[in-house]
Amino acid sequence: MKVRHRFAFNTSKTKIISFLDKHGIKYEEMQGVTVFYVYEDEDDFVMIKEFMTSNEAVSISNAIYTKNEIETADWLTVRSSWSSLYPQPEEDMNYRFATYDATNYCEGNPNISIPQGDKITTYRKYATPTYYCRKGLVQKESFVLKKEPNWGSRNFTMLHWVGDELFISPKTAEVLTKSDLSGFEYYDVKNKSKKTFNNVKQILIGNYVDKGLCADAIERTHKCPVCGFTKFHLKTGIYRFHKEVFEGIKNDIVKTTDKFGEIHCDSLILITHKFYRTIVDSKLDRGLIFEPIKLV
Ligand SMILES: [Zn+2]
Repeated sequence: MKVRHRFAFNTSKTKIISFLDKHGIKYEEMQGVTVFYVYEDEDDFVMIKEFMTSNEAVSISNAIYTKNEIETADWLTVRSSWSSLYPQPEEDMNYRFATYDATNYCEGNPNISIPQGDKITTYRKYATPTYYCRKGLVQKESFVLKKEPNWGSRNFTMLHWVGDELFISPKTAEVLTKSDLSGFEYYDVKNKSKKTFNNVKQILIGNYVDKGLCADAIERTHKCPVCGFTKFHLKTGIYRFHKEVFEGIKNDIVKTTDKFGEIHCDSLILITHKFYRTIVDSKLDRGLIFEPIKLV
């Protein structure tokens, strides 16, 4: 696994351009934004990162795996890079209360905006910094969408704002039904008139793996000032769990009890090698991102 950083900056920053030219670093310019990539294991990485940080340009990193690393993993995370639809109702993210039981919900300490004429007043409930917790939602109803996904050549999707639910095409449903994979059910997805869509289902994942994240996988933690619940931000490409928590799991798809995200509160979706194989061999994997889990 290699970690690749993508730096993007305004092309008018000629000091950075000169720096890149001087060091022979290739870049691309598109519509006023210049982009270049550096791998963390390159000799000049630290020097480049320090220079960019001092010029107020940060990077986004992602992990690049070899085929062998993906294909030999017992467990993998899966998510879809394709999200085209929002859960409904969209306004004020009210889908949360329509779709989930919010009895044990903690919002944290968000900024609350109140429009008054042409002015907007913002306040927070507590005297602590702004914080988005969003812990404790339990699904009770079908997701509602404005329309069905336009699948094209894709067969899995996720929704904006919802980082831990997968939605599938009829073709995926057919393959999964014929397989002997376990740990999920199909759940209806509805339109705004509460009529069930024919061309999309949610995969309802019923099982969770216990908390078992290794400390050295964690980049930073987010602790809610209201309820004390802690969420995690992982180091890029480092998915390390204690192997004990996976012992005895008989299902091929599970969610983590550990939650992730600064604004949202999402589990990771984990699948077995067998689940991965079924998806890939049936050519259903377009737009899916798999990352290997390391059990230690
Ligand atoms: Zn909280």
